Amino acid sequence: MQKAAQKEVVLRGINASAGICIGKAYLVDRSGVDVVARYPIAEKDIKAEVKRFKSAVQSAKSSLRAVIENSLHDLQKAAILETQVALLGDKLLYGRTVETIERERVNAEWALKTVVARIRAAFQGMPEAYMRERAADIAHVADLVMRGLTGVEAQDIGRIDKRVILVAHDLSPADTSQINLEWVKGFITNLGGKTSHTGIIAQTLEIPAVVGLEVATQKIRNDDIIIVDGNTGTVVVHPAEKTLLAYEERRATYERYKAVVTRESHLKTATTDRRRFDVFANIEFPEEVVSAINYGAAGIGLFRTEFQYLGRTAFPSENELFETYRDVVEVMAPRPVIFRTLDINGDKVIRPDAGHDERNPALGLRAIRYCLKRPDVFRTQLRAILRAAAFGNARLMFPLISAYFEVQLAKRCLDEAAASLRKDGLPHKRDIPVGIMIEVPAAVVMADLLAKEVDFFSIGTNDLIQYGLAIDRGNKQVAHMYQPLDPAVIRMIKHTADAARANRIPVHMCGEMAGRPLHVPLLLGLGLSELSMNPQAIPLVKRMIRTISLAESRQMVKRLLGLRTAREVFEVLRDSFGEMAASQPSEMQP
Ligand code: PEP
Ligand code: MG
Repeated sequence: MQKAAQKEVVLRGINASAGICIGKAYLVDRSGVDVVARYPIAEKDIKAEVKRFKSAVQSAKSSLRAVIENSLHDLQKAAILETQVALLGDKLLYGRTVETIERERVNAEWALKTVVARIRAAFQGMPEAYMRERAADIAHVADLVMRGLTGVEAQDIGRIDKRVILVAHDLSPADTSQINLEWVKGFITNLGGKTSHTGIIAQTLEIPAVVGLEVATQKIRNDDIIIVDGNTGTVVVHPAEKTLLAYEERRATYERYKAVVTRESHLKTATTDRRRFDVFANIEFPEEVVSAINYGAAGIGLFRTEFQYLGRTAFPSENELFETYRDVVEVMAPRPVIFRTLDINGDKVIRPDAGHDERNPALGLRAIRYCLKRPDVFRTQLRAILRAAAFGNARLMFPLISAYFEVQLAKRCLDEAAASLRKDGLPHKRDIPVGIMIEVPAAVVMADLLAKEVDFFSIGTNDLIQYGLAIDRGNKQVAHMYQPLDPAVIRMIKHTADAARANRIPVHMCGEMAGRPLHVPLLLGLGLSELSMNPQAIPLVKRMIRTISLAESRQMVKRLLGLRTAREVFEVLRDSFGEMAASQPSEMQP
């Protein structure tokens, strides 16, 4: 029998990564309790439903015990798992779920989901880290029971082996980094903002992504046909024939266009008044150097080194880091590679630090603050970078600097790392350019003094906007206020660039703002010396550079500096350069 055609549904979210893909949905339920339906249970079937729940609990216990058997060498892990086995029999979870099935006459999955949601909410409100960890334990065991109930296996994104589009409530940067490009065409999530790290990885992987859809996991079922338009942030579920054809056409046009600009991207780039500008690539994984070179990058302007630390149970060793860094430096040589030292926590928590718990992670022990508190971890990385520097053109920068003393301490750590390498007789190079990222308003204000301490600045607008405008970069609720063109942001960039120029050091930009063609005249006019971006953004940015004059851009900036709102700035840029930037539909959204 033929299935009745389902009605086309259009969802709107945030365009996190450009491109269009069409395919079957694959629901990834990271929380394990999200995509669950509620259905009533007849009085006579209640007993059987409770029994079904009990046997799912039993099998969850057996599977935990099997893991414990294999973890006896790791006492800490075994102890955590023992706690989880105990939780499975606890009144809180077990007793209340049975009660809910009986009282509300609902299916076991739904009862478990509601009980877990209540417990988690209660625990998460508690100040003690211990209690919040227990909430995580509960989520984990509930996930196991849920799998027993639904028969759904644990989903390992890395193991997906059919061509699909991922649909998830949320994906962590670690989840996203496991995506196998052979199979995953794109992804969409309920949560997330434009410059959340998950979106940035999607851009790096060059797969279309739409985030912040809020209801994607409710509206979409496994194997539904969906269209993801990462250019406009649109998702179409059950597209009608006509819509499918229109999007196929759009996809082909976009791919053709991309091919043309990519070909041009290897040519040298100068403005119409002959000022040369090099464009650099941001990478997260060493393999991306290939894509950086293919897209015509003059070097790596930001190597987000923390991704090598994510999703593993122990810190990487100095030799492992060194070998990775050396490969990157060697492949890129003589082009420069800027290593950004570890920027963990914030939205990228590493497993060796599980139990690390902060109320306000974005304002917490993140990036350089973490490294200065963990000199052992920092020193291992600094030694690896200095050793790799002997093989090519390496530079180094420290992230999230918010105080002068941090630069002094970080440089001291670097000297100590070099001294220890000397003592160990290991080849290395200490004399490399050392810079800092300007991504906290305090660093902007102090830029004149900080400039005397370092060889270059690199403005990280993703965080500078977050901290400068007080907008969580991953929060959909305030995404409309996350405006790179906000006059406050423009003034912070100007202040930084002026301080750099006065101290004769270069000022780069490696935040997402740099990868938007429409922003290029503004950034060059403000005095930025180098722009770094996701590799696939390079061709369009280069094309824009070739069409503008530096002198005219400077004139235009004078005018822009007097404007009061992001919209006013956007309108001037759009009216002057919109046609050139219009190839990226997302550019046209202020
Ligand atoms: C930034 O904040 O702009 C930046 C480039 O760093 P990240 O996005 O890794 O925080
Ligand atoms: Mg940053």
